Amino acid sequence: MCQRFVVVRIAHQLMNAPRASAQGALSPLDVEAVRRDFPALHQQVNDRPLVYLDSGASSQKPEQVIEALNNYERHDHSNVHRGVHTLSQRATEAYEASRTKVQQFINAGSVKEVVFTRGTTEAINLVAQSYGRANLRSDDEVLITEMEHHANIVPWQLLCEQTGAKLKVVPFDDTGVLEMSRLKDQLTEKTRIVAVTHVSNALGTVNPVGQIIQLAHDAGAVVLVDGAQAIPHGPVDVTALECDFYTFSGHKVYGPTGIGVLYGREFLLEAMPPWQGGGDMIKTVSFDETTYNDLPYKFEAGTPHIAGAIGLGAAVDYVAALGPDRIAVHEHQLINYATERANAEKDMQIFGQAPDKAGILSFVLDGIHPHDIGTILDHEGVAIRTGHHCAMPVMTHYGVSATARASFGPYNTIDEIDVLFRAMEKVREMFRQ
Ligand code: PMP
Repeated sequence: MCQRFVVVRIAHQLMNAPRASAQGALSPLDVEAVRRDFPALHQQVNDRPLVYLDSGASSQKPEQVIEALNNYERHDHSNVHRGVHTLSQRATEAYEASRTKVQQFINAGSVKEVVFTRGTTEAINLVAQSYGRANLRSDDEVLITEMEHHANIVPWQLLCEQTGAKLKVVPFDDTGVLEMSRLKDQLTEKTRIVAVTHVSNALGTVNPVGQIIQLAHDAGAVVLVDGAQAIPHGPVDVTALECDFYTFSGHKVYGPTGIGVLYGREFLLEAMPPWQGGGDMIKTVSFDETTYNDLPYKFEAGTPHIAGAIGLGAAVDYVAALGPDRIAVHEHQLINYATERANAEKDMQIFGQAPDKAGILSFVLDGIHPHDIGTILDHEGVAIRTGHHCAMPVMTHYGVSATARASFGPYNTIDEIDVLFRAMEKVREMFRQ
């Protein structure tokens, strides 16, 4: 099987989205042009050209996003949905236009299904506290996986404490692949919610969320997909997936921090009680009775992060113009190359060797603490992440306290991976003298 075919096949599997067969049909990403769009990449760090391999934690922003933020702050800033004056109308139009952009980007059925939140974390908490509190009883179960980010663990633990429901956990095997047979066993008529990450931030594993959604629906459960690490790496079509809830953060998809999205199926959101109370989420307020606003405003209490939403709109426009399919193919070339190089290093252990992976290489070097790796790499201008990546159960699975993690975006190159591996030689020199 030729390399190119493998890459394209993986890219299609990645997001389970229906695509035309594209063997060889995708023109490659013009990475140099992409790089020119990102001003932060063009700087020296510790007298070396920056090699930014931490997009999994937070990606950089293209000029198009910075310009949208700048334009809004300089000319259009005002509060939304409230004023009759021109600036307020401009701000409202731009804010709502971003919602439409997001709706189209993820192929949601309606703008009513796109709720702006502070990020993935807030979106998951919203579902746990609104849907979960309204629908779970003490005999019910919530099913998550062993590879979840803390943001997709702790809200469910809180919900279980509040309702008496039980939290069950599907394990993954040592290669980082979710054990689907265990998932099938643990999915019962008591399961009310299945919450699963689309792509693991600590392992890079792409989970078969389409299959999980079908199984969960057959068992009568609703499914929340944590898409924080999936949205930046390839196409996501929430309608094709048939998921009930999908969550992601702006700052991992080349947009601002403090903004994210909860996608929810309209009939579910409609039936859910509000989560937070305040301005904008109401129709009428009196001391006797308060009536709530229509979707999606029922879930957007208070003044939102207007600039953030506008920046996110520009970010999804940017990604859509690059082409999520092409991003996926490019990033698979990077991860394949990085994995090949890592496999050739005798003292390097990779965490997460699933056949379907996206954009993340998690590893340790024998006898050297990941924080030391991160510090020396920074001296060489290479930015990676070290620590537990807010996925402590994944660390526990492998009996380590931390890993080093390089994560890739459309602006990364094969040359940068070579710089990473050269810099790792320096780490060895320093710590193995
Ligand atoms: N889920 C996953 C898989 C993540 O990688 C992250 C961020 N590292 C989150 C949830 C939480 O995202 P945020 O902090 O933007 O809310």
